[in-house]
Amino acid sequence: MSISYIKAPETVTHWINGKTQSGSSDRFAEIWDPAHGVVARQVQLASEQDVNEAVSNAVEAQLKWGGLAPQKRARVLFKMNQLVSQYTDDFARLITREHGKTFPDAKGEVQRGQEILEFACGIPHLLNGQFSDNVGGDIANWSQRMPLGVTAGITPFNFPFMVPMWMAPLSIACGNSFILKPSERDPSPSLLLAELFKEAGLPDGVFNVIQGDKLAVDTLLNHDDVQAISFVGSTPIARYIYETSAQQGKRAQALGGAKNHMIVMPDADLDQAADALIGAAYGSAGERCMAISVAVVVGEVGDDLVEKVKSRAEILNINDGEVEGADMGPIVTAEAKARIEGYIASGVEQGATLVMDGRGLVVPEYESGFFLGPTLFDNVTTDMKIYQEEIFGPVLAVVRVDTFAEAVELINAHPFANGVACYTRDGRTARAFSQSIQVGMVGINVPLPVPMAWHSFGGWKNSLFGDHHCYGEEGVRFYTRYKSIMQRWPDSDSKGPEFAMPVN
Ligand code: NAD
Repeated sequence: MSISYIKAPETVTHWINGKTQSGSSDRFAEIWDPAHGVVARQVQLASEQDVNEAVSNAVEAQLKWGGLAPQKRARVLFKMNQLVSQYTDDFARLITREHGKTFPDAKGEVQRGQEILEFACGIPHLLNGQFSDNVGGDIANWSQRMPLGVTAGITPFNFPFMVPMWMAPLSIACGNSFILKPSERDPSPSLLLAELFKEAGLPDGVFNVIQGDKLAVDTLLNHDDVQAISFVGSTPIARYIYETSAQQGKRAQALGGAKNHMIVMPDADLDQAADALIGAAYGSAGERCMAISVAVVVGEVGDDLVEKVKSRAEILNINDGEVEGADMGPIVTAEAKARIEGYIASGVEQGATLVMDGRGLVVPEYESGFFLGPTLFDNVTTDMKIYQEEIFGPVLAVVRVDTFAEAVELINAHPFANGVACYTRDGRTARAFSQSIQVGMVGINVPLPVPMAWHSFGGWKNSLFGDHHCYGEEGVRFYTRYKSIMQRWPDSDSKGPEFAMPVN
């Protein structure tokens, strides 16, 4: 089979039953090339009928797939892993063109997503159940992990490869079928993914892709044959997904937005902290759910730190993500750029000190691109909108406090609790921080503490609804349910009926 979708097609369609499908709707959305600021192609938006078709195909495919030996399912994933390595650059190019992030950053995204695939290859072991022999009267009791059936994943624009990979490989490895509803802003990597799954030997219908918007999502949420929903995106939609799934009796994990802080202690290596802030605040133009958007500086080092961040930010190369040496690409859409500019204006209005203003940046040869330069605010206070809300752009807010306790209290009061970091050279501070901070993913001298594939990813509070984090063992639990079986092979002579609760 030759692989077609290393190039994005003019119209991005659905993928159902092992092939592209145009679907029945005449609704489309525009996909932008954010570096050039032009519409590059369009994506179909599914009708209810298209979603229903994908679900019934997934129901049928799962019956056989779920009954295969886990080793056989793992072999497909091993092959898929090789293919993803082979096509890494192709995925990265698609990501850079539609999302805007730099090519090396896009390749990093592919590799971090691939790590979940590698983890899922160990599924025979991960599905081990529990066994107890002779629990009484020669009865054995075991619990085994069973697939759920059809599962669906709804994913955000900022990681069009990695976030689907947080979900699909484990769901499939566990014996489910999986329907992906990617972001309509950068949907092309989903078709290459589907094509490679087929090439790896995945039976048709086990991985389907439905392109679409709210209508597609609502149809999945309300469909009786969809057993579980994984969602990653903004907090209002995450809450909606979780609530609707609960009303429909579905299992849901819904990961939401973030406002990630980094404490910089007076004893920290300030150069290291400034380097970390530059990468974590401005990498991927700040469009990462683990981006650091608030630096909480403790004590007297505020002026030094702000100066160090500013001098580094001033020399960043902002360009088309495919241009060699680019540190930061454009914002995903003109609408997102305007939203971020609105936040910068509100920071100024509310009295924060604008140290660097990224507005009005023009990149030569890309005059229509959606570029924004790095923006730095100092003296930000907790009553400001730029502190309270997720901006999701290259905007770093510096908050100054006097003590470590004040920094911890401020972070613990924030409604978002996805990631957090602390830069210090003191072990006792580091321990106090890791134990007292009320946030799901914690870094000590690590700015973006994204858990490895065999741990699990998830924030607390308004950053996650549901009780399962993504991937790792939590992922295996999410995509399976336990069945407990008790078994006895009795002697032939009957002892007669028993009416009391059996005990030992
Ligand atoms: P989004 O919430 O706008 O969209 C996410 C998905 O939901 C998309 O597939 C979209 O089509 C769908 N959707 C949008 N509006 C909907 C509606 N009204 N009803 C039903 N479905 C709807 O998010 P985004 O802008 O694509 O992504 C950025 C957000 O995602 C940020 O808030 C970021 O913090 C968050 N995010 C969180 C994590 C995490 O792990 N917590 C990871 C990545 C991104």
